[in-house]
Amino acid sequence: MDRHFDTSYYHQIATSLVLPDRPYINGRFVEGCDVVYENVNPATGRTFSTISFCSARHVDQAVDAARAVFDSGVWSRSRPEHRKDVLLTLARLIRENATELAVMESLDSGKPIKDCLHEIGTEVPNFFQWYAELIDKTFGKVAPTGDDVTAFVVQEAIGVVGAIVPWNFPLLMTAWKVAPALAAGCSVILKPAELTSLTALRLAELASLAGVPDGVFNVLPGYGHDIGQAMGRHQGIDAMTFTGSGVVGAQILGYAAQSNLKPVGLELGGKSPFIVLEDAPLTDDLIANAVNAAFWNAGQNCTANMRQIVHASRKEEFLHKVEAKVAALKTGDPLDPETEIGPLVSWKQRDRVQGFIDKGMEEGARLVTGNRNLDRQGFYLDPVVFDNVKADMVIAREEIFGPVLGVIGVQDDDEALQLARDTEYGLHATVFTRDIDRALHFARQLPCGVVGINGFTEGDVKTPFGGYRRSGSLSRDKGVEAMQQYVQTKTVWIRSLRGVD
Ligand code: NAP
Ligand code: MG
Repeated sequence: MDRHFDTSYYHQIATSLVLPDRPYINGRFVEGCDVVYENVNPATGRTFSTISFCSARHVDQAVDAARAVFDSGVWSRSRPEHRKDVLLTLARLIRENATELAVMESLDSGKPIKDCLHEIGTEVPNFFQWYAELIDKTFGKVAPTGDDVTAFVVQEAIGVVGAIVPWNFPLLMTAWKVAPALAAGCSVILKPAELTSLTALRLAELASLAGVPDGVFNVLPGYGHDIGQAMGRHQGIDAMTFTGSGVVGAQILGYAAQSNLKPVGLELGGKSPFIVLEDAPLTDDLIANAVNAAFWNAGQNCTANMRQIVHASRKEEFLHKVEAKVAALKTGDPLDPETEIGPLVSWKQRDRVQGFIDKGMEEGARLVTGNRNLDRQGFYLDPVVFDNVKADMVIAREEIFGPVLGVIGVQDDDEALQLARDTEYGLHATVFTRDIDRALHFARQLPCGVVGINGFTEGDVKTPFGGYRRSGSLSRDKGVEAMQQYVQTKTVWIRSLRGVD
């Protein structure tokens, strides 16, 4: 067996990792406050590291450093080719350190190493590379005028950006925010989720090595209600970008309203449908997509397609095949490269999801498989498939953020569409059909930011990602569109003095 596919290889790396343990401000690790956070490995339930958390004074320090370097222009007004070179170097350093970063991420969050290696070895560096390459290919505009005047429109970096990210894709969400913000020339202050600070702290160190000037990228581990709030209310932060729950998203809008009216980009939750029309062949590929759509990252995914809306004539066969596929999923040690489902991120999250499963049974959904006692250490849950889910059940309406798949039978396309639309969210949807006209009809009628036809996908770095309705604001992560969160336009009118005495 290739040693890179051996569980003991990753465990060996785990024991030799040097884990960051304090805030990163102005190009160096600094002393934190008295709050020492005990970082628990979700796979064992035991503390494996401690992190010295920030207090409000660190937010002030980081804002001062970020502002000073922004105003100096060494990054914000540097030649585009320079920022491009530095971010390409950072992409290379991430690739070179991907295995260590992936193990760190897996220990910190419980995510399977297979997923961490893909996210950190491929996706995260691609984000830095893609936005690096965009820097010297993006131009302003010249407006049509008469000869007596010239008017041009440029896009300028917005200034100091505060970014707050969740724990479900710690370094990937960081890259979604930080790569375009740095490419734009902004200074960034990032608060990772309290449960998962490690890889962001290591990224800050790699950014300095790559040549990102001191103060341009700062990472503040700490509590959301404390330093997250301090960032949201800070007069020295020019824009906020946030991924997480709707409740906290609304609070951040409030902080902005009560401070300096900074713009706020929001990527929030979802309750996304996976729709199987009656003409869709129930191939292995469709079933693999259905299972992945609900159970990827143990269902701790904002695009999780948990509501699976299936034509009644296909429901029995669909359930039978899904049940077999779920039975074959490997739940276990996240550092085993064959593991597909790891533990949930915390006891709190596990209990919350168990509460939804209990509620589903109480409301009359039929348990097809799962919910056994796994008798493991750590925060594991046996993946659950429910049949006979009804549109008004709590499990069909609220975001579960755990390994639960619910099937709802429908009689025709109209009923499928009506059910799919019946949610306050609007992040994502998947539709399986052989008929392109039906597919397009659904794609146009579904009120959400991303639709996958005949495949569960969020797309890649090139395409914008974000939600309709309560799933987010008008801001988008990914694609050229992400840059809009980090720039503002300036118009310059130059009147010709030719002929003026
Ligand atoms: P969360 O509670 O909203 O936390 C997200 C981040 O906000 C964390 O860093 C958290 O810090 C911080 N925070 C908490 N309270 C705060 C406050 N009062 N002021 C400022 N910041 C605060 O969400 P979560 O539990 O981490 O993640 C799950 C949720 O995120 C789900 O609803 C999911 O759908 C959503 N999500 C959405 C996307 C997307 O792209 N749309 C992606 C991933 C997740 P602490 O860690 O200290 O609490
Ligand atoms: Mg952790």
